[in-house]
Amino acid sequence: MKRVVIKVGSHVLNEAGEVSKERMLALVELVAQVQKSGKDVIVVSSGAVSSGYSKLKLDKSLIRNKQALAAIGQPLLLKMYQDKFERFGMLCSQVLLSASDFDSRKRTKHAKAAIEVLLANKVVPIINENDVTATEELVFGDNDRLSAHTTYHFDADMLVILSDIDAYYDKDPREHSDARAFKRHSFIDQELLEQTCKPSSEFATGGIVTKLQSAQFLLKRDKSMFLASGFDLTDVKSFLLEGVQKGGTLFSV
Ligand code: ADP
Repeated sequence: MKRVVIKVGSHVLNEAGEVSKERMLALVELVAQVQKSGKDVIVVSSGAVSSGYSKLKLDKSLIRNKQALAAIGQPLLLKMYQDKFERFGMLCSQVLLSASDFDSRKRTKHAKAAIEVLLANKVVPIINENDVTATEELVFGDNDRLSAHTTYHFDADMLVILSDIDAYYDKDPREHSDARAFKRHSFIDQELLEQTCKPSSEFATGGIVTKLQSAQFLLKRDKSMFLASGFDLTDVKSFLLEGVQKGGTLFSV
């Protein structure tokens, strides 16, 4: 594996209405270790809305307010990332994209050209949806789909989704105590994909269904996806750094 996209959801970065410095530092440390092991790393990060909300308490049930909060929070979020990456002697960068950028070959090509320069210079691209002009992931998806497109179009081998859940289960583990985690999964049931998505908190949107959609998108294109906990990075570390899968779910053909 040469290039990996690591996506961190808003649940993971968010702690009591603010971006958790501790968790962001743990994520940045992981990125630094993966990069040191010789892989290119692209980060897709949520957290702009919660970052903005820590400064201005607007009603988040309104999309236009969420957009405004993202506009306030995005530079704050990046400043936090910059500070953390600096501790590891690394540079990071901001890349704001939307799904429609991937609809246009020309725009995808332009974005990829910039990403290649960043990666060649060991600069970590931090991608987020441009929430002021595109609201798709803000409403539904929490960057799950954006990260799948990022993986495919920027030639990564794998997408790693760091979530508030440590694996994909045969049923929702929060509602069923007997739910069993899948270690590997190679086929996504169409019925599951058509389920209505239940947002599981005021910050996150989409839940497990958008993750399955991303997995299906990538499986069809010969890419793989690894879903693991973003709270405890033990599983993702052993998977990415030692090539050993202890926990998490690997979606792969
Ligand atoms: P993120 O951490 O990326 O923001 P979400 O909270 O949006 O993730 O989605 C993950 C949630 O989906 C889990 O916390 C869990 O409650 C729910 N979920 C529903 N069905 C399943 C399942 N079969 N396996 C795992 N999680 C599931």
